[in-house]
Amino acid sequence: MKAIRRFSVRPVLPEPLRPLQELARNLRWSWHPETRDLLRSVDPDGWTSGGEDPVRLLGTVTAGRLAALAADRGFLRRLGVAVEDLRDYLTEPRWYQQTDARAGGELPRAIAYFSPEFGITPALPQYSGGLGILAGDHLKAASDLGAPLIGVGLLYRHGYFRQSLSPDGWQQEHYPVIDPHELPLTPLLEADGSRARVSLALPGGRTLTAQIWQVQVGRVPLLLLDSSVAENGPAERDVTDRLYGGGSEHRLLQEMLLGIGGMRAVRAFCRLTGHAEPEVFHMNEGHAGFLGPERVRELGELGIGFDAALRAVRAGTIFTTHTPVPAGIDRFAEDLVARHFGEGGELASLDLQALLGLGREPLGAAAPGGQPVREGEPAPFNMAVLGLRTAQRCNGVSTLHGHVSRGMFAGLWPGFDAEEAPIGSVTNGVHAPTWTADATRRLAEGSRSDTELWELRRSLREQLVHDVRARLRASWRQRGAGQAELGWVDEVFDPDVLTLGFARRVPSYKRLTLMLQDPDRLKALLLHPERPVQIVVAGKAHPADDGGKRLIQELVRFADDPAVRHRIVFLPDYGMGMARSLYAGCDVWLNNPLRPLEACGTSGMKAALNGCLNLSVRDGWWDEWFDPDFGWEIPTADGVAAAEPERRDAIEAAALYTLLEQQVAPCFYDRGVNGAGLPGRWLEMVRATLDRLAPRVLAERMLREYITGYYAPAAAAHRAMTAEAAGELAAFAERVTHEWPGVAVEHVEPGNEPPTLGGSVSLRVRVALGGLEPSAVEVQAVTGRVDGDDTLAEPGYVPLKATGGPDLAGRWTFEGELTLNRPGPFGYTVRVLPAHPLLAHRAELGLVAAAAPPG
Ligand SMILES: *Cc1c(COP(=O)(O)O)cnc(C)c1O
Repeated sequence: MKAIRRFSVRPVLPEPLRPLQELARNLRWSWHPETRDLLRSVDPDGWTSGGEDPVRLLGTVTAGRLAALAADRGFLRRLGVAVEDLRDYLTEPRWYQQTDARAGGELPRAIAYFSPEFGITPALPQYSGGLGILAGDHLKAASDLGAPLIGVGLLYRHGYFRQSLSPDGWQQEHYPVIDPHELPLTPLLEADGSRARVSLALPGGRTLTAQIWQVQVGRVPLLLLDSSVAENGPAERDVTDRLYGGGSEHRLLQEMLLGIGGMRAVRAFCRLTGHAEPEVFHMNEGHAGFLGPERVRELGELGIGFDAALRAVRAGTIFTTHTPVPAGIDRFAEDLVARHFGEGGELASLDLQALLGLGREPLGAAAPGGQPVREGEPAPFNMAVLGLRTAQRCNGVSTLHGHVSRGMFAGLWPGFDAEEAPIGSVTNGVHAPTWTADATRRLAEGSRSDTELWELRRSLREQLVHDVRARLRASWRQRGAGQAELGWVDEVFDPDVLTLGFARRVPSYKRLTLMLQDPDRLKALLLHPERPVQIVVAGKAHPADDGGKRLIQELVRFADDPAVRHRIVFLPDYGMGMARSLYAGCDVWLNNPLRPLEACGTSGMKAALNGCLNLSVRDGWWDEWFDPDFGWEIPTADGVAAAEPERRDAIEAAALYTLLEQQVAPCFYDRGVNGAGLPGRWLEMVRATLDRLAPRVLAERMLREYITGYYAPAAAAHRAMTAEAAGELAAFAERVTHEWPGVAVEHVEPGNEPPTLGGSVSLRVRVALGGLEPSAVEVQAVTGRVDGDDTLAEPGYVPLKATGGPDLAGRWTFEGELTLNRPGPFGYTVRVLPAHPLLAHRAELGLVAAAAPPG
């Protein structure tokens, strides 16, 4: 019989053990090894069987064990130390407080950080992959630095799916239900003790209500909205059922709840706890895009019109785009969006056409997110476009991805070169305390001899071998094998064999099966008599992606072959727990995406923290930080074979095999050099990775870049943007837009010629400004080297000054000097842009008038 309801009976902890609750309910234990060890020691078996979740652990531990612990002086002493440590961590001034004090209070008092997924610990499975793990690492690093973030997300009752395999290697999906009471979740309460709720108006008079759970991530509160509440109808209750499940409308409702409901939850949280209101709003990918329109609505209640409110909202908003892959960007049919907003829906006080316009893809070839929109077709509502239009500061997640994003979204700023699109970049980072194995951390603290380093690598590899065997056995049992048939699993993997890891989600651009291009060549690598390689592979395909499932099946079938199954394994259910073991235990982390579709990639960074070397296509972060001391670059054929994907795969796979055969394996197995039986060059690379690469890949570095480059300027812009200033800026934007057709560069007088190096060219230009005054514009010379077709490379910008008044035809004269400090072909042009102190970027209003090219 099945129970129709379930609940947990919570034991009452004996008085001396009460502080355990405090430790269990703050997720800092997940990156503080001493606290984690203490919690595990409460009941080591229960810790493992309960999924390393201390709240569940404390709910199941026996009264006898609790009584014993309450009388264990050693345990109580450690408990006291851990609790003191947590309290200090939560209250002492940290980097942020010190930096803010030096900067005179310029840093934001609070920052709301919105993400559709958060990967913080395996015990809270609210993530599908890199985006969520990054969000989790962002919160943890914020906590460590003392940055006042408030995380905002959804609580999915089924999380993401759990993966297993059918006997023939087909991905199976399971959706276990999570029970909030067994997790470190606390309901946010109103003053009267009832649960705090937010609600959204849906078409047809329906209401979507969600309760707000709070998770404490060190110093950072994370608010998770949960629509599984009694007052919702069945459809509304299911809005937060799964991460990335369901059809278009389901997804739209999730995103409305995240953006609009999330903003309302932040307001409720600040009202109920006295927390400072956020001055900066950061969207981790476009899914939370509706927070902008929601804030426009809030300002509307204060009597601020749409345009002014939008200017004000943009000032404090940051949008981070995470993928150049069209399928990764949400696009909705405009009529679906229209049905949910306006009359009888949400944000009814906003002008519906203005709202729809914010997400509408521009016409033309450069339209982002898939097929270009053509004249006459309905343009989809694109969440990334919404993000870009509602945030004054935007960024990609590696230098290369910033460049790719500028090209991809250039259509939003017509008239400007793609490189001028206002999208910067902050390269992702990873949270070292979460991803560094305890043994690596201990060794890193002292000086490390080659012998110690090699012993560390071997012991991490050996742990991985045990983990691989246990997971493989469990997988085969699940696939229907009997215990007696599985003796061979004990022979799988060898702690002395070069170990490669490849684990990630399975969208097609990540090319899970590139290594299978030439199965014989792969077999020869695996079975090499002196220099064998062993490979561990893992990854989940999206439930709706049969193509991805076929790739997994192909890999599983290859790995099932008795001839190679001791050297290559596919482990189902890739998640944070498995990831930690793989990153630490592998010698080489393999990544072979289709360049440049990997926006950043972070698994290779986590591997590097443990001295694992990278073997990767130069995409994402590896394009930036590749160094022959840190690993190898797989040469790509992006130019040659872009139109022939099969040929491209074959070329790149061949390059990968060659690297493994001729460089990676020989380097690992070369034990002659220093006479101690150690691979000298390999260890040199491990050391370089730990000493020089690991400090760069940190989430703390990433967060500092966000704080100084994005959060602080956004807070300043937000503070400067009073209702009055916003109204003035909106009026300015409207006026220049109206006058712009009359703006033109009419005449450019060439100066003294011919120029010599170190000399200068004086420029005198005549411009028409329509009805605008010179202070409303910047007239600038754009200068630089020119190539064969006169394109300016790496241009510089020189502002010209207005001299005198307008001539009889109303034209103004601007002058300036161009310094010539580089020999060779040199060119310039002249253009006019709107100028206003509250604009953050020259392309911001999308207006430019350039001198006509000659001829
Ligand atoms: C880091 C991580 C990812 C992201 O890896 P990529 O290299 O960005 O593909 C995905 N899943 C888990 C569990 C991770 O820890």
